[in-house]
Amino acid sequence: MEIKKGVAVSPGISIGKCLVIDAEDYRIPRRLIDPSQRMTETQRVRNVFKDAIEELTKLQAEQEEIEGQKMKDIFAVHLSYLRDRTLRKKITDMITTESVTAEFAVSKTLRDIAAHFAKVKDAYISERAADIYDIEHRLLRLLVGGKRQDIAALKEEAIVVARELSPTQTASFNKEYIKGIATGAGGRTSHTAIVARSLGIPAVVAVEDITESVNAGDTVIIDGNRGIVIVNPDDNTIQQYLEYAVEYTELEHRLDAIREKPAETRDGVRVVLFGNIEFPDEAHSVLEKGGEGIGLYRTEFLYLNRDTEPTEQEHYEAYSKTVAVFKSRPVILRTVDLGADKYTQSRRYAREPNPFLGLRSIRYCLQNLTMFKTQLHAIMRASVLGDLRIMFPLITNLQELMQAKMVLGDVMEDLDDEGIPYNRKIKVGIMIETPAAALTASMLAKDVEFFSIGTNDLTQYTLAVDRGNELVSTLYSSVDPAVIRLIRTVIQDAHKARVEVNVCGEMASEPESVMLLLGLGIRKLSMAAPMIPEIKQIIRSVTVEECNKVARKVLGMNSERQISSFLRDAARKILPEAF
Ligand code: PEP
Ligand code: MG
Repeated sequence: MEIKKGVAVSPGISIGKCLVIDAEDYRIPRRLIDPSQRMTETQRVRNVFKDAIEELTKLQAEQEEIEGQKMKDIFAVHLSYLRDRTLRKKITDMITTESVTAEFAVSKTLRDIAAHFAKVKDAYISERAADIYDIEHRLLRLLVGGKRQDIAALKEEAIVVARELSPTQTASFNKEYIKGIATGAGGRTSHTAIVARSLGIPAVVAVEDITESVNAGDTVIIDGNRGIVIVNPDDNTIQQYLEYAVEYTELEHRLDAIREKPAETRDGVRVVLFGNIEFPDEAHSVLEKGGEGIGLYRTEFLYLNRDTEPTEQEHYEAYSKTVAVFKSRPVILRTVDLGADKYTQSRRYAREPNPFLGLRSIRYCLQNLTMFKTQLHAIMRASVLGDLRIMFPLITNLQELMQAKMVLGDVMEDLDDEGIPYNRKIKVGIMIETPAAALTASMLAKDVEFFSIGTNDLTQYTLAVDRGNELVSTLYSSVDPAVIRLIRTVIQDAHKARVEVNVCGEMASEPESVMLLLGLGIRKLSMAAPMIPEIKQIIRSVTVEECNKVARKVLGMNSERQISSFLRDAARKILPEAF
């Protein structure tokens, strides 16, 4: 039995057999196979070489017309490696003699060659190392890609263990069969964690060396409440966890009982609870859990599980389906937040060096106007069906907001020309998720109807800590004094300008942060559906006066450690079962 600690990102407990997925971008763990599988693994290698040659030949043909000589040469070099029989033989020999997986043999062989090239003094040869890494990526993507599809079609229960999962992969999981997730990479607000939470799959991320510690078929316990993964537990531990699981289900049932009750503090202050969704199908669970609307619809997920861009009609259908669930209640559609860890990098030939600081989100939309207008056109068409609102993400300055609004204005004119009805008074808001936006909230407030504080990115950009990097996950905290001060500024400026303000980052669903947010003046929170009952229970157990006191105390503290332990103690007193 091995107990491993990670970061709890999606609550619940599950026990089951694990399925290990190798990632395409990282060191592949050396996992042994049964000698009877050697033939299958060898055949997999042959197949992916064939597929890679086909893929590259096609790309080469397309590139010849567009970009000319340079790309053509690169593809020619890659093709010559892939056609080299000795390379393939080296890989298959490794599988036969060492009984390792196809992934490991491909990765190890190619990385050894790349390392050898990199050491050569001749610049021409040392630069070839990059080509070899590229080939390794391509082959691994093809090897792992097949397995990913297998996972989407899985027909028996499993716990997924991986070095890293993309938001797209996680979104394709079938909740009926995938019972838990453990990854080596990631942090509390990485998009994979967010999707797991929305789907209600218990998950723990940032578990060191997790892929090296398990073999396919091992029994694994995922404790998504405490951030623990137990590999091959003994009988006593299994028994103890079965009891925990029962307790947790009982808590969920008890919380279901307050579904119809309002999220109102003991002294009668009403708080509005919205849901965050990634797909229209999730709208029903928001309603079931007592959500009063959608505070954040991450519409970019429409792009993530497919190879082509969605059509305007597909956008429209997704939005009208969501509005139909909520009728006249608010549904805030965030325009696509592509880039960074979502979608665009895997489609670029050369990846951006710092994608989270790169062509992401509204910046990407403003440089891809056809795509942006397609989405806005669909949103506006759907705007007559209910209380649809538009939210622009990652705004960093007023100019960007004005540009986005201008594009929206153009789309409205097009609709006028086409004689298509739309809501001329649609509410337009922005996410406050950069320090720049927070510090200039008073200026931005003049041109919007609402702010939604995206604490996930606000924390990342304020503290200069990558939200998905497990190496710095202990430095990532939304209750750092710097982040809290920015949140306070935004709330104060919003109140002064009479602009609505809510929080839709993961902080809104953290039991320990709720009192602080209420004390800072927030009256609207948006979160993953499964978290709504627990947060409502906390709101119903406190008074605003108590929350104000908590906020005053926290603002007087100067360390994150002190603040988080103070907030945890305060929340634990109210809802001990959640901790
Ligand atoms: C945020 O940044 O807080 C947010 C809600 O947006 P996302 O998590 O999709 O980046
Ligand atoms: Mg964000």
